[in-house]
Amino acid sequence: MSNTAVATKTSLSDNVYEALQTIGADPAQLAGELSTRSPLTGETLLNLPRATAEDVTTAIDRADAAFRTWRDTPAPVRGNVVKRWGELLTEHKRDLAILVQAEAGKSLSEAEGEVQEMIDICDFAVGQSRMLYGRTMPSERPGHRLMETWHPLGVVGVISAFNFPVAVYSWNTAIALICGDAVVWKPSDMVALSALGAHTLLARAVAECEAPADVHQLVLTDRHAAQRLLDDPRVPLVSATGSTRMGREVGPRVAERFGRTILELGGNNAAIVTPDADLDLALRGIVFAAAGTAGQRCTTMRRLIVHESIAGDLVDKLVAAYRTLTIGDPRDESVLVGPLINRAGHDAMQDALRDAEAQGGTVVTGGGRVLADEYPDAYYVEPAIVTMPAQTEVVRSETFAPILYVMTYSDFSEAIDLHNEVPQGLSSAIFTENQAEAEIFLSAAGSDCGIANVNIGTSGAEIGGAFGGEKETGGGRESGSDAWQAYMRRATNTVNYSGELPLAQGVKFL
Ligand code: NAD
Repeated sequence: MSNTAVATKTSLSDNVYEALQTIGADPAQLAGELSTRSPLTGETLLNLPRATAEDVTTAIDRADAAFRTWRDTPAPVRGNVVKRWGELLTEHKRDLAILVQAEAGKSLSEAEGEVQEMIDICDFAVGQSRMLYGRTMPSERPGHRLMETWHPLGVVGVISAFNFPVAVYSWNTAIALICGDAVVWKPSDMVALSALGAHTLLARAVAECEAPADVHQLVLTDRHAAQRLLDDPRVPLVSATGSTRMGREVGPRVAERFGRTILELGGNNAAIVTPDADLDLALRGIVFAAAGTAGQRCTTMRRLIVHESIAGDLVDKLVAAYRTLTIGDPRDESVLVGPLINRAGHDAMQDALRDAEAQGGTVVTGGGRVLADEYPDAYYVEPAIVTMPAQTEVVRSETFAPILYVMTYSDFSEAIDLHNEVPQGLSSAIFTENQAEAEIFLSAAGSDCGIANVNIGTSGAEIGGAFGGEKETGGGRESGSDAWQAYMRRATNTVNYSGELPLAQGVKFL
């Protein structure tokens, strides 16, 4: 039996309306055919104007014109806009979190955590605006200086997914802006109000700092109109976050015109639990990573590879912990697991569970829909644990729902093989107190993912590191570390102050 909770039915639309008003987006001005829906109740929130393909081109025109002024603005001055954006996000953290909760169905704590990530990346980007370093290398010729300089790229197209309506966009935008780029943002049309809120706060920062108003454009539209972003040669970089299916369309299309992409696509993240693991610590890490956000994080833990000697004990503990999770409308603060985004998410989960059973798996807990009477148009499910005799096809694909597949291993090298034997390569973890096993997991012969953790789950990355994954996850890196370099172009400069013209490699000519 699961614990369920039904929130007091204060009007969601009223809350959303008020949050937008406080942020400075006037809801009374909004009308159109893009209707926004809340996964909490299934109700329609507000209707917004939907951008056409022509509107997308106009947004690129404007951003391209603004870029010409913005690229000449000193980087630390550009940083002031991002600094102000961070201040406004701090001031309106709760308002923006209310929009994220209403549209993505997260608990308020997770929604506020998402806005905190935006604030953190603003801080990071402000510092980075004074550190767009190029190197100086020793020239092989006397009287010559050899160096690298970094320059803004142009208009960056940002395409983002529903499950992180604002954070991932801010990783791109804060960094792109300090790098001197203009941004055209196409968020998921499922979370348009959150996008409007985040955009309005940035527009306020841009205006207060007297930066070019058009340096940031929001286009609320579907994937069809978004093709303009993929095809326009004035958009040298498209940073796209979403499913691997989306990446297969976006990547080749942008590459066809030699544009660049940062692809942040689906994950199928696993943790290995060895016999030496601290099981209590592992348990908490696994439950948060596998069931939190109702399994709708790109870094959600979807596979557990457990040593056969402890598998029975760990699964029993996990089942007991899952039964304590409160599922329901996260406006009730006792709720830990909110809804799936929509009916398609629910159906995909049911299909995967059926396939898992057909492929030899056993559902040991969860999987069913709950609260269907209270919320006929919203989709609440019990997070599921499924034991699998092998890593079958269903385990190898990403289902964007809370299903944790558990497999066993006997030999550590077998665990690593199982771990890496999926097409995706985003996040990974090992729970162990054995230092050698931890080091092997982090070595070249270990996890093949972009993120590899020890004694911590697969989700909940910090902005200071570069974020992204390998293989079908797309290879892109965003956020901290040196990810900023992808938003700039590098020029290698040679300056000759010798008064002679010696050629490189000792070549003689004339
Ligand atoms: P989705 O692929 O359906 O949509 C993502 C975005 O791409 C949306 O804005 C959508 O409108 C747009 N889009 C889709 N096809 C397009 C096309 N052909 N051209 C232009 N735009 C297109 O994904 P979703 O359901 O919103 O999000 C869930 C998926 O995103 C999961 O697979 C999850 O793992 C992934 N995700 C990955 C990361 C990461 O950093 N790796 C982060 C968040 C989500």
